[in-house]
This record gives sequence, structure tokens and C-alpha cells, in this order.
Amino acid sequence: MTMRNIVLLGATGSIGENTLKVLDGHRDKARLVGVAARSRWRKLAVIAEKYGVRRVAIFDEAAAREAERSGAFPAGTRIFSGEDGLCEVAETPEANLVVSAVVGTRGLRPTLAAIRSRKDVAVASKEILVLAGKFVMAAARERGVKILPVDSEHNAVFQCIGAEPRRHVDRIILTASGGVFRDATLEEMARARPCDALKNPNWAMGPKVTVDSATMANKGLELIEATQLFGLPEEKIDIVVHPQSIVHSMVKFADGSVLAQLAPPSMTFPIQNCLFYPRRFGGVVPSLDFSQALRLDFRAPDYGKYKCLRLARACSRRGGILPAVFNAANEIAVDAFLRERIPFLEIPEIVERTLEAFPPREPETLEDVLAADAEARRIAAERI
Ligand code: MG
Repeated sequence: MTMRNIVLLGATGSIGENTLKVLDGHRDKARLVGVAARSRWRKLAVIAEKYGVRRVAIFDEAAAREAERSGAFPAGTRIFSGEDGLCEVAETPEANLVVSAVVGTRGLRPTLAAIRSRKDVAVASKEILVLAGKFVMAAARERGVKILPVDSEHNAVFQCIGAEPRRHVDRIILTASGGVFRDATLEEMARARPCDALKNPNWAMGPKVTVDSATMANKGLELIEATQLFGLPEEKIDIVVHPQSIVHSMVKFADGSVLAQLAPPSMTFPIQNCLFYPRRFGGVVPSLDFSQALRLDFRAPDYGKYKCLRLARACSRRGGILPAVFNAANEIAVDAFLRERIPFLEIPEIVERTLEAFPPREPETLEDVLAADAEARRIAAERI
């Protein structure tokens, strides 16, 4: 079989680490041909050495210059910098799959560059579909490349939908852990401090995503992503709280049958699916063991408690630039909460007050969306 030649954008983050873990188990089937990170070049140098990668991009210009001078990279390594550098690595000629796991909007152009040079893309960062879903999906259709979802929920839906025509799909059911405040009252949430919000029981994630999981803004963003990825309207996407995080999402078909994808809560499962799709090889961590007792609970989310989820639904319905505004305002609000500048329940209020400043409109270009993103950040900061 042919080797998978993989470019990993965001190699030093948690998706990057899990991708390397999958590669470690399958060194005979896939190799890294390019890596990129924002600024952590020492970690990148270790990866370059271990995996024999000679094309490296470092977003931060100063970090890239430091990396150049350090001599820490193997001889013959080409070090690119800035957004152009990330695009350069995304377009690596021998690559056939680009894993796009750069946090934030700086992953957008490199992702589009990968698609335009006809590489399949495994999408891990939310911004790609929330901000640029329309452009990314259109570009992928035009070039005939696959967009493979890394996020556990979307990957589950992707696996369940398979080759079924859309008319067979009645609805998508995204599961949610419910976050750390799943069983908390609104009063308890009102008093929550950053340390309380940062205790996600099922998944180990960075602070921003953990807070997003506690407000369920995360699920709101995933709902927006799902509409883009699977071409279904917001009202066809349900959210169900599933505390165990074993069922990663489900698809209900027209005849009432429901398919679910199950796996332990490790990102190696969806990543491996993306790296080798449509082929399947042995997993790199143990899977479920049904000889042990296993309980799966499901319940409807309390929309009264999760205003971010209501706002995300409204933004998804109205579309255009609003999902980008939601995402940007939420990021600013979460940052303010983590710095103890606003209380927990003020997060959705900031988002709502920011959204009020934006009449819905359809973006013409990616630049248009990025301008709305920047404007939303500025307005959200003013609202704090
Ligand atoms: Mg997820």
C-alpha cells in the first residue's frame, strides 16, 4: 500500500501530540513530511529530528529567526516563517494529507493553500469551519479533495453517515459531556471562578476549551461546524448531554434507525480515522472492553442554563458573518473570565452584546470574515 505523507500544522499542541502518537504506532504506513507550530521551536526541533522532517514552519517571526540561529534542527532543514511559511509547508509537494490543528484564525490560509494544492485536509481547529466553512467546503468540492473532521463529535458523525445520501439523514445528534457545571445550578455557576471552571472530568484540554465546555459554547461552535461539514440546517442538529463521553455522536436516519460511534475518550481514535481513511488498522490505545460494566446516560441539555448554546443556534440559523462574531466575542469574554475580570455568567452576555452590533450579512471573501472577526474582538473588549 502507498505511504501517507502527512503535514502536521500545529505539531506542538495536544492534537499534534496525539497525531504523533498515532504515527508512532504506524511508522510503516505514514510519514511526516512537514510540520508547523506557532512559536515552540525547540519542541519542533525534537519532532523534526525524530521523524526525519525537513520542512518546518514557525509562525512567529522572532521564534523562527531564533530557530534558524540555534542549529537545533537537523542539517538540510528548511525553516519557513509567518503565515506564508505555514502555507509553504501546507503545499509540500509530496504531501497527500494536511492535518490542520493550528489554533485560531492563523490556520485559515494555510488550510485553503493545502486544499488548492489538492491535498486532503483533516480539520482540527474550529475556526476553519466556523469562520470559513463556506469557502473551505467550496474549495474542497472544486478541487475534489476530502475534508476529514478530527473533532470527536464530527468524526463520529462522519463515520456513521458513511456514504448515505443526505435525504436518508433525519438528524445529527451531537453528544456533549455537559462540562464541569453539568449538575450545577445557575446560582452556583454565577459564583464560579476560573479554578472551578477548569476541572473537566473526561477530556484533558487547554483552559479556553475547558471553559467553552463549561458554558457549552464549545457545543455551539460544533453545531455550527456540523452544519458546514454535513450540509444540514441548524434545526436538524440535536444536542444531547452524555456524561460518559463514550458515544461521540449519532446519526438518526429517515427510517428511525440511529447509528452511534463509540470509543474511549481519546483523540487518537478520530485522528487515526482521519489519517488512514478509509482504511482501518490497529488502534494505539486500548478500546472499549464490554466484559466490564459500562453505563451510558443521555439527557436533553438545559438550554436555560446554557445561554451560549442558544446564541450559537441563533447565529447558525442566521449564518453569514455571525458565527465568526460569536466565536470572536466568546474568545475575548473567556479570556476576561480567566483573568477574573468578569464573572462566569457574563461570558454569554458579552457575546450577546457584541452580536447586537452586527447586522447579519453574507461575507464575500475570507478577508471580509477576518475583518468581522477583528471588529468583533474590538467591540467585545469594549463591552467588558
Ligand atoms: Mg469536540
